[in-house]
Amino acid sequence: ATAQIGVTGLAVMGRNLARNFARSGCTVALHNRTEARTRDLVDAFGHEGTFVPTRSPEEFVAALQPPRCLVVMVKAGGPTDAVIEQFAQLVEVGDVIVDGGNAHFEDTRRREAALRERGVHFVGTGISGGEEGALLGPSIMPGGSAEAYRSLGPLLERIAARAPDGAPCTTHLGTDGAGHFVKMVHNGIEYADMQLIAEAYDLLRGVAGLEPAEIAEVFRRWNTGRLDSYLIEITAEVLTHTDARTGRPFVDVVADRAEQKGTGRWTVQTALDLGVPVPGIAQAVFARSQSGHARLRRAAESLPGPETAEGAPSRMAADEAERFAAQVEQCLYASKVVSYAQGWDMLRAGSEAYDWGIDLGSVAAIWRAGCIIRAAFLDRIRGAFTERPALPTLLADPQFAQELGEAQDAWRGTVAAAARHGVPAPGMSGALAYYDGLRAARLPAALTQAQRDYFGAHTYRRDDLEGTFHTQWGGDRTEDRTD
Ligand code: NDP
Repeated sequence: ATAQIGVTGLAVMGRNLARNFARSGCTVALHNRTEARTRDLVDAFGHEGTFVPTRSPEEFVAALQPPRCLVVMVKAGGPTDAVIEQFAQLVEVGDVIVDGGNAHFEDTRRREAALRERGVHFVGTGISGGEEGALLGPSIMPGGSAEAYRSLGPLLERIAARAPDGAPCTTHLGTDGAGHFVKMVHNGIEYADMQLIAEAYDLLRGVAGLEPAEIAEVFRRWNTGRLDSYLIEITAEVLTHTDARTGRPFVDVVADRAEQKGTGRWTVQTALDLGVPVPGIAQAVFARSQSGHARLRRAAESLPGPETAEGAPSRMAADEAERFAAQVEQCLYASKVVSYAQGWDMLRAGSEAYDWGIDLGSVAAIWRAGCIIRAAFLDRIRGAFTERPALPTLLADPQFAQELGEAQDAWRGTVAAAARHGVPAPGMSGALAYYDGLRAARLPAALTQAQRDYFGAHTYRRDDLEGTFHTQWGGDRTEDRTD
């Protein structure tokens, strides 16, 4: 046995992870159900490092130095369960089985509990950054026991992306499903961020009348400021691209129906169960779903909008467009801060509900590179939660609070412009409503409680007295204390 780590499942993700481990100096055992993939990897990339190709699960396990660390990178769901069970029978007490696929954290909790009973460590880990990240350095989000991390962690730290300060983008996040939970929230935030960027583009087009290539320039400029991020960078790239078949802007030939693989939906479902308001993520999931509802969209096609009265959007003069773009930047930034604040609320709620003890600053730290939402401003989120781990919401951080205050006129103006021009901006307007909802001295929730008491005797509390109360709505309207 010579290998420090093994990878089974050598499709795009597994192959690139195995190569990344080998390039970092590890001896890597390889296994795949269909042996040809193993041979192909060694033929094409064998020169990159030391690989130990194996032909059977038994041979694979025998190639690994104890305590064995083996990474499963097979199709999520049933195949992952089958492969874990197969290897659980072959490994020994103290060995570590890692699932690097996109598993639901509840599945990871179930798998971890089952393996723990057999003395085997199970580590569910999120891996972000897609195919390229797996090869060049992903952000890695491992859960599982602290003991498992002692043997596995140093190997993960070798292949993870490096943040600008040189720190590896991985850390032990908490026991059992913590890693996959954090990865799920990462994807939820990614949905929200993408939706906001799409709305900014739509506003620059629908209100300012800019062409995609001009909007790409705006995004490029934004990418040199506080919005500096991978998603803004690729948006500029996409908007500059011209379709080779038609010569039209690429964004104009892609069907406007956004699909989803399910992690955004998981985030919202889990948020509902935990009782955490994440409207930014929910709006993004629903916006994708709405875009795909051809029947609804066709039926509503001829509903009147503002353009029927005012004509098609006209092109703004250059200086006016410039001012509007600056306003949209403020709105995008403020809405983005709100979405990230909601993501961190969710991390805290999950950590408390499952007793994971997730370090909220560390999550920001390991998302600074390697993952899809990597962005300069994550370093500031890291700072905010490192300085004040009990910060109740990112919006309460003095720096972010000040920025939102400064952005609010532009933010309100942009949301109003969207409404006036009939440009749908659920993410931006929802973010503003969330901001106003949190800062409101008094909410109409009081009226909601009164209604609930009226029709269902659900009772209410008063601000001026202890206890719960019910008003005799059907009778003389006297108030009874019910507790
Ligand atoms: P796929 O999800 O396409 O899975 C293909 C691999 O699974 C092949 O190695 C295949 O083996 C193996 N496999 C499928 N069924 C079985 C089975 N019953 N028994 C044994 N092996 C099986 O591969 P990807 O590389 O795209 O993804 C791997 C994992 O990583 C998935 O869980 C995915 O969700 C996750 N992931 C993917 C990302 C991406 O960008 N693609 C990003 C982050 C995570 P065979 O060659 O024999 O068919």
